[in-house]
Amino acid sequence: MTAAVRFLLAVVCAGEIVLLAAATQTAQGPPWAIHDMNQPLPMVIDPGPAGPPVTAPKGAIVLFDGKDLSKWEDGKGGPAKWKVESGYFEVVPKTGGIQTRDAFGSCHLHVEWASPSPAKGEGQDRGNSGVFLMNTYEVQVLDSYENKTYADGMAAAVYGQFPPLFNACRRPGEWQTYDIVFLRPTFVKDGRLDREARITVSHNGIVVQSYVPLSGPTAHKARPPYKAHADKLPISLQDHGHPVRFRNIWIREIAE
Ligand code: MG
Repeated sequence: MTAAVRFLLAVVCAGEIVLLAAATQTAQGPPWAIHDMNQPLPMVIDPGPAGPPVTAPKGAIVLFDGKDLSKWEDGKGGPAKWKVESGYFEVVPKTGGIQTRDAFGSCHLHVEWASPSPAKGEGQDRGNSGVFLMNTYEVQVLDSYENKTYADGMAAAVYGQFPPLFNACRRPGEWQTYDIVFLRPTFVKDGRLDREARITVSHNGIVVQSYVPLSGPTAHKARPPYKAHADKLPISLQDHGHPVRFRNIWIREIAE
């Protein structure tokens, strides 16, 4: 065996070890401790200027068309208490989150949002809200424009689990888009997990989450295990005390 062949074999073997390590890491969930301030922050990318609302594709269910919150409720069956203005609605702090009247499982969800301008507060206390798939799994909404916080709590993070691959946040007050492809978890009859949930997110057209495997529900300072739930549950938006705005929300269900 020549030295060159030996070298190539070593490279291939090393590659396999790296692949094995990656597979092991995925199976064990996120590699960093939750909200670890030492976790490197993703590269900042300028996504370019905001455009007009993205037209809902044929067959999509429009959850907010700029006029009213009739597709939403307060979580107790009452009307959603957030403020509707021309073409958008806004979180009214301390009124609680809102959720869809209908329930959804796997889906492609399109959401547009804007953080308050001028910006107020720092870290998690600045333009914080969230999109909860199945009322359980949060894609973070935060003003991450020149605003430092822990990586797994930035805009477009799967909260407490996966930071975004890039920081593609626009300035406060500018409209931003999320396209979230969510594959729900499945459970076997006795309630044990069959298949973990997966999330892919585009933020302002840039893929920032790529089919990441969730370790369970998202939570603050905790990574609780999965608990069996229905195949479809409402989508909710978080009241974190900040007047974040939303517009043009639509969903395409993914049949499985
Ligand atoms: Mg949040």
